[in-house]
Amino acid sequence: MLLETMHIAPRTGTAFKVGAGQTLTVIDPQGEQVADLLCFNAHDIGEALSSGRTLDYASRIYLTTGDPLYSNRSNVMLEIVEDMVGRHDFLLTPCSKDTFRIIYGDTDPHQGCFGNLAGALEPFGVLPDAIPIAFNCFMNVSVDGTTGAISVLPPLSKPGDYIKFIARMDLIVGLTACSALQSNNGRFKPIEYLVE
Ligand SMILES: [Zn+2]
Repeated sequence: MLLETMHIAPRTGTAFKVGAGQTLTVIDPQGEQVADLLCFNAHDIGEALSSGRTLDYASRIYLTTGDPLYSNRSNVMLEIVEDMVGRHDFLLTPCSKDTFRIIYGDTDPHQGCFGNLAGALEPFGVLPDAIPIAFNCFMNVSVDGTTGAISVLPPLSKPGDYIKFIARMDLIVGLTACSALQSNNGRFKPIEYLVE
């Protein structure tokens, strides 16, 4: 089997299939770059990744090696099998036109991860309203345990760091190189991934 690392250009996204038992490695080639990850059951796109269920069952907001990512139907979709960074976010939705309008005050906003995911997932029949909270690989969101205030900090990922998942069902996966300045320490960089 030929293994080829795939490239996602800065501020873009893609979608692809991953079969049950295959692994998906998400690589940050330059460091400090977030990748939003979504998945849907390839045989029934009504079943999607669920932040709420996953965090509920983990009883934690920070997930790492050994943690399963559940669907809205409480089935395991992915499991983290290797994690070089140890800090990812599963609280915040994909950045979008509205994120940039509301938080950054942009008058002509980029479509963000949300628009990139919506475009990439459209051929698979996934409608924009069905896009859930993404698992934000490498995104460093700190939470004040007393007030609940959240801060988006520079990712802890260094060049070449990766997180690796195993698929526990046949999946349609959406993946981006995140478009939000704050999430990526002010610089838009590419993301790479490998399915094997
Ligand atoms: Zn983003």
